Amino acid sequence: MITINSDKGLVNIETWDDVVSRPGFVNNLNAQAHSLKAILGRYMFRDTVNCGLSECHTPHGKGYLVLTTDGLETNIGRDCGKKYFGVDFETLSRKLDRDISEKNNRELLVTFSFRLEEIRARISSSREGELGAKRIQALMRPLRVLSSGCPEPVVTNILRMIKTRISAITISRQATEDEVQRLEAFNDTTLPRPHYIEEPVANLDGLDALFPENDLHVLLVKELEEPLSKFETEDVDLMSFDELRKWVKWTSALDRNLDRVEEIVNIARRLLTQSNLKPLEVFIRRDDDKHLFKEYLRKLPVN
Ligand SMILES: [Zn+2]
Repeated sequence: MITINSDKGLVNIETWDDVVSRPGFVNNLNAQAHSLKAILGRYMFRDTVNCGLSECHTPHGKGYLVLTTDGLETNIGRDCGKKYFGVDFETLSRKLDRDISEKNNRELLVTFSFRLEEIRARISSSREGELGAKRIQALMRPLRVLSSGCPEPVVTNILRMIKTRISAITISRQATEDEVQRLEAFNDTTLPRPHYIEEPVANLDGLDALFPENDLHVLLVKELEEPLSKFETEDVDLMSFDELRKWVKWTSALDRNLDRVEEIVNIARRLLTQSNLKPLEVFIRRDDDKHLFKEYLRKLPVN
């Protein structure tokens, strides 16, 4: 890739021949005898070219096309630039690098603008629908917020399972004398009476959907929709270097974030079924709580 700062702005040129055929180009410049006027361009190759300074000629893969005060052009690497042309070279090359990344970022965002419709469609298909993110959030809320539609023992146990990240639904019960004796024999120890054991009842599918880092509101609204709406109101042509960089960073994570949202929606759909959540009934003692939980389950698909 060769980028030249021309009267038409920064342009990419095809081949190294286009560089060496420029009128002022020399491939054997004595740096001591000339001083730097400007940096004309930058190149980056998989193959190497030789440094254009008579003192050096070292092959390198990336460097700069420089112009001397007496109108000669040659190509040098960063090391030679610093060594022979000092601070001027460093300032000018840094400016060119910055200008090129600004131009590239602006082009990336213009290209990205053509995808807005497609991205909007993907977001809305995740959000809407019978069991889209919006409905999912409404249905998950009673599971982790007290007094919002699920009985307290269910919420408490769900919160414990989220905290421990263990999806097994277990109940604690007093072991029979026979069980305690077997445990004692197995572990060659004595146990206090009464002894309690955790008995697995079922495994809750999709618990991950409730983890804080999988919050669909944050992922879908805060990190996708709000920035997207903001981007749509801005003019890529007027963005500053820092704004361009910030938006390119956001767009480069966007596809991954969309995939992530779709993945969490699918996990939540496995969580939010009657058959999956029904085993949580083991935690409920009171009749009115049992009734409340039945009401909640009725809002969910059976399987
Ligand atoms: Zn050199």
